[in-house]
Amino acid sequence: MSAVADQSPNTGCLIGFRCPNRKCRSYGGFRIGISTVMEVQDEGVGEQTGDNEWSYDDYCECMKCGRSGIVEEFQEDYQKWRRSRDKKKNRSRRR
Ligand SMILES: [Zn+2]
Repeated sequence: MSAVADQSPNTGCLIGFRCPNRKCRSYGGFRIGISTVMEVQDEGVGEQTGDNEWSYDDYCECMKCGRSGIVEEFQEDYQKWRRSRDKKKNRSRRR
């Protein structure tokens, strides 16, 4: 048996999510700053009428190591893309 599976166990809300911290690499949970719509009167906050949604530039934080950033940075695809981009950048330094 391999020690740490490199395959995400997430099949629900956290599909594609992974902590970008190399020492953590946790698959969850995460604290995410969601965007939603609330009914707000002068007396206070009422019902939530919007969906619980987040976008790639919303706040995200790893509950295991405390690493924070935006949702995009917590996507495995994005991390892979950035690693390959960094590799290319190191090979040919221009500008
Ligand atoms: Zn983490």
